[in-house]
Amino acid sequence: MRAQTVGALVFSAWCVSALASGPPVTYVLAFPEPLRRYALVEATFTGLDSGPVELRMSRTSPGRYALHEFARNVWDFHAVDGSGHSLAVSRPDPHQWDVSGHDGTVRVTYKVYGDVVDGTYLAVDDTHAHLNMPAVLMWARSLEQREMRVILRRPAGKRWTVATQLFPTDDPLSFTAPNLSYLLDSPVEFGPLEVRSFTVPACGADQSHVIRVALHEDRPSGLVDTLTAAVGRIVGEQRAMMGELPTFEPGHYTFLIDTLPWARGDGMEHRNSTVITTPATESGAPPTVVPTMAHELFHAWNVERIRPRSLEPFSFERPNPSRELWLAEGVTSYIETLTEVRAGTIGLEQALSSWSWAVNPVVAGRGRRFRSAAEMSLLAQFVDGAKWNDRSNADGTFLSYYTYGHAIGLALDLSLRARSDGRIGIDEFLRAMWIAHGKPGGRLPGYVDRPYTIEDVRSRLAEVSGDRHFADEFVNRYVEGRDVADYAALLARAGLLFRHAAPGAASLGDLQVEDRPSGITVSEPPPPDSPFDVAGIGEGDVIRAVDDTRLGSVGQLHHVVRRRRAGDRLRVVVEHRSIPRPVEVVLGSDPRMELVPLERVGGTLSLDQRTFREAWLASRAGKCG
Ligand SMILES: [Zn+2]
Repeated sequence: MRAQTVGALVFSAWCVSALASGPPVTYVLAFPEPLRRYALVEATFTGLDSGPVELRMSRTSPGRYALHEFARNVWDFHAVDGSGHSLAVSRPDPHQWDVSGHDGTVRVTYKVYGDVVDGTYLAVDDTHAHLNMPAVLMWARSLEQREMRVILRRPAGKRWTVATQLFPTDDPLSFTAPNLSYLLDSPVEFGPLEVRSFTVPACGADQSHVIRVALHEDRPSGLVDTLTAAVGRIVGEQRAMMGELPTFEPGHYTFLIDTLPWARGDGMEHRNSTVITTPATESGAPPTVVPTMAHELFHAWNVERIRPRSLEPFSFERPNPSRELWLAEGVTSYIETLTEVRAGTIGLEQALSSWSWAVNPVVAGRGRRFRSAAEMSLLAQFVDGAKWNDRSNADGTFLSYYTYGHAIGLALDLSLRARSDGRIGIDEFLRAMWIAHGKPGGRLPGYVDRPYTIEDVRSRLAEVSGDRHFADEFVNRYVEGRDVADYAALLARAGLLFRHAAPGAASLGDLQVEDRPSGITVSEPPPPDSPFDVAGIGEGDVIRAVDDTRLGSVGQLHHVVRRRRAGDRLRVVVEHRSIPRPVEVVLGSDPRMELVPLERVGGTLSLDQRTFREAWLASRAGKCG
């Protein structure tokens, strides 16, 4: 009952959960020895039915798709009942603790280690506690719909404060969540934070909203104000695109940002917040932070509320395979760039290099020859935060659904605009997805009652384009099929040239070679049908000589290729498993494409091109900006 600042809809949703199912679950988190990098967790479950309680450490984390072994870092586990008597514990699997013989109350304590500052793990040290809840909290099966309470204990001598999307209480170190799913989606940054907040004023039918930026830096640099100003402009463009901001249930949306030399580069979306971490240390905005803010904020619509059915509800025990990440992630990447250029936080040239970066591998066919964007999405479990010891040829057969979907977003936007003289674009499509699937919300707080399927994508696209055939053909060819859109024709409408960057230049393809003590070594499987692959040269092979000249370094190999033309033949001596043999390598053509404004190469924009580009890229925040 403390979301007084937000609308009636949220108020009633909160009541549903309070009525839900028994007394709250309470977690107390302490950091008694920050230098030893662990959190001390005390979790209390009351009002339990008889029979064992099944306690789990999660195997997944919302927004990250690999399976994790969070249980690996748990130790010193104890369980007692309501009178403090020790309870029997069994371990049916590595992620579970079954506690039996209790009196209706189970209180467990454990330590959990963590030293990774990113969007997935726990990090505790003398400067802060950075908590991604699935890496920290053990939860009880069958109590998922209870209210959750989190109490943080500040280490002695620290002046740390908290930034989180958890619901506040009168105590600045105590918070609540309406259920387990919301709790596990709610990261906490507990440290020496610089916090800024601003109100996005009400505009038209949209209410006002509070955005907060909480930054933990190595040394305060003024960065927090730079970031706050930039994101203010981006919020305006994204609201104009979607017609309104989502209702942020705790009364605010929060950016939790760590710029620390020991951080990993990451951005992780949550329903009412995001975690952004970067190893940058210089003062001024590290170049990736503002784009990441634009990306993660758009996730508040796209994936958090406009949610694929494949991710709803999200399982904390099993992988969450989805065929829609090209839309959830890739199109979000496209919107990140589009709204940045509209907001003026990047210029046209930066936007073009982002789009060129995304379209190049799609056009070149890297991976696309083997799998569609929908099929690439299904591989997220193997690439997003995954660690492997075995070897793989995935580099040659995989194309990230981020890249793929980014390029599809561009093609979709330009296709819609081309068919409507610039009147209808991806804005209208995403807004239709929002109205049908995001805005209706969920009966339970944090859940989405109308998640979408690929059939819904077809239907919304048919509605906004007024052409079912176009919608089906676009999805069949570019999302579920492996065709590539005609980017040169689409971009020409906006007076942009999509052309070969180095016509006629020779190339060995996307080849990974490195200097090793044994010689110039092919370090990854050459991409299928690349010159080395065709010549029968594989991973681990050593390049000894080209055209009778012994080579001593990768630099020399590249030098030879640069002096030749596409189609030239090289006589190569290659050593496979210590046995040298001669092979002939036919050089390919350099596949790189570049995206250039017509006016930069001496052309003149036609009125149509100028109008088209303006309708696409100009700010539309207007009076609501
Ligand atoms: Zn994302």
